[in-house]
Amino acid sequence: MTPSNILRTETAQCREHGEYKNHLIESFSGGHFWQGCTRCQFDAYHSTDEEAGKAAASLRRERQLNLTLLASGIPPRFREATLESYLTTTNPEQQAIALRQCQDYAAGFEDHWRVGRSMMLLGAVGTGKTHLGCAVAQSVIRSFGAPALYTSALDIIRDIKSTFSKDSELSEREIYAALRAPDLLVIDEVGVQHGSDFERQVLFEVINDRYKNLDPTIVISNLSIQGLRQCLGDRAVDRLSDADGPTVLFNWASARGAA
Ligand SMILES: [Zn+2]
Repeated sequence: MTPSNILRTETAQCREHGEYKNHLIESFSGGHFWQGCTRCQFDAYHSTDEEAGKAAASLRRERQLNLTLLASGIPPRFREATLESYLTTTNPEQQAIALRQCQDYAAGFEDHWRVGRSMMLLGAVGTGKTHLGCAVAQSVIRSFGAPALYTSALDIIRDIKSTFSKDSELSEREIYAALRAPDLLVIDEVGVQHGSDFERQVLFEVINDRYKNLDPTIVISNLSIQGLRQCLGDRAVDRLSDADGPTVLFNWASARGAA
């Protein structure tokens, strides 16, 4: 539990264990809940009472899942963006294909993780690429308990640039390590900065690092595959499509109207 997940802390009384610090925790699916007495939860988990043990184990799993989901960086706007909630009404045929590719990728994640198979989501603005990218990340966390991280190219570039300041709390190496750590990394908005050399070098470093460790990456971009090759360089795109990594195309008009 990181301090940012704790909304408030109050002193509470447990009948069994006396005074303790009770934390109000953010819930990924909205709202919040009180953590309660962790000593009680620990005791129940290790109890010889089968029912109490089961209930405590299930609570522990639920709380752990909540923390993994919160750590995913999926923004509040996209927390309800799941594979089930993706609408295929604007362009049913093509959207159904895109959805199926993302469902298949999420379902087969164990295999992708084993061989380091990535995926690209490419196409027009407002076609639901971010929705599906977040949905795959959430599905991978829920189905496999695998940590996934959603971020954007702009955030990565900004984080790396911020390490150049002598007051920076984090080193460049730590930023790259954090991007290497999750089993799945989703990088949104690639190419928004029109591919400066710096962006290309940083993103190649991230993609290549993960490629070498067989860690899958999902890249989301408004660019075409040719545009992405220009922006990221051939080597990066080759790594993203290695081991038959799928490219999902979103080539229909925006659902947001004249966007
Ligand atoms: Zn207690």
